[in-house]
Amino acid sequence: MQHHAGWCANATLVMSVQKRNTRLLRAGRPTHGWVNVPPTRASTFVFDSVAAWRDTRKRRETERLNSYGARGTDSTHALEDAVVELEAGHRAGFFPTGQAAIAVTLMTFLSPGEHLLMTDSAYEPVRRFCRDQLSKLGIRVTYYKPDGSDLQGKIQPNTKVIYVECPGSLVYEMLDLRAISEIARAHHCWTIADNTWGSGWLYQPLALGADISIIAATKYLSGHSDVMMGISVANERAWPYLQNAVVDYGQTVGGDDAYLVSRGIRTLPARMATHAESARRVMQWLASRPEIVHIFNPSLPQDPGYEIWKKDCAGINGLVTIELAPCYDVAQSESFIDALQLFGLGASWGGFESLVIPANMQAARSLSNWNTRGQIVRLHIGLEDVEDLIADLAQALDQLHLK
Ligand SMILES: *Cc1c(COP(=O)(O)O)cnc(C)c1O
Repeated sequence: MQHHAGWCANATLVMSVQKRNTRLLRAGRPTHGWVNVPPTRASTFVFDSVAAWRDTRKRRETERLNSYGARGTDSTHALEDAVVELEAGHRAGFFPTGQAAIAVTLMTFLSPGEHLLMTDSAYEPVRRFCRDQLSKLGIRVTYYKPDGSDLQGKIQPNTKVIYVECPGSLVYEMLDLRAISEIARAHHCWTIADNTWGSGWLYQPLALGADISIIAATKYLSGHSDVMMGISVANERAWPYLQNAVVDYGQTVGGDDAYLVSRGIRTLPARMATHAESARRVMQWLASRPEIVHIFNPSLPQDPGYEIWKKDCAGINGLVTIELAPCYDVAQSESFIDALQLFGLGASWGGFESLVIPANMQAARSLSNWNTRGQIVRLHIGLEDVEDLIADLAQALDQLHLK
């Protein structure tokens, strides 16, 4: 990978002894002059001569160069340096949404007649993409259990991709990614991981053997609920294929958005620490409430994924999901959500603010039965004062008793 002269990458010796957050703060930034690479809004890059133009067009297939806006700018190159540092990857492709990153990455590694093994814990729109789009192309999809226990038996001769989301969407199931990547490699399959939960800081799929790690930068990387972006970080083996697809499908992001995500990454460790600390406090408090029968979070020792989480993850984020006691029906669960004042009701998470959403687990899983369980509610614990968040949850839970 080519680095710009004068960028942080030349300080390898010093950097190798630095802590992760120090490296992350420095990655993709100039060593002198402006602290940040300014946002580059650009389409056309002009050349001095036909010879220079021809030379760049040849070299850009293997080197990172400025040649055309869609092929990357100073802003996306700077962001790429930071994300590659975060994910211990080789190179990264940028997409207008996390969903686009997932769709294009799956299309990159699958052809008609091939088979995809998909986790049953996948982000729901991915399930829909498989059903509505991959099926049209004659790509077969089989779901495996989120803990991976039935995966090996579901591999077929034409299986090409094993898709992982760990921890899973909504209830955060864990699997042993190192073991699964080894199985994938033995069967000549690619391992693609949705790493939005860990966002590189808490979990590094590539270090555990995956070929591609996808982050919805819309969430924690941007961190302020003001950008949509998806990023696919590839290892060296997968990059040439991903790079081709990014070019062929015309995927790119604008300089302003790239700038905002680079900006978000500088405070990722600090924000994540606060999300985690507040989430821990909220979970401790929730455990004392009789209205709640279960808390989903892999950092809880009673969680089935706890041992793997302890081994593979560097912490938690602000996501906490709760199960209300089965005596509360849908209407009561919804009135609890409506009663919350500080938790906004809306999709996404990873911004500075607290959010809540009802989770329809029956629709989100096909291999497990949630019919007999209580109502499931997902919380995103934001950066507000945790005492205020707890007070808000308390008053909303108290209302359950009034019904
Ligand atoms: C939000 C999310 C996505 C999609 O990101 P968008 O930018 O909203 O398209 C993908 N995977 C997971 C796990 C997510 O939570």
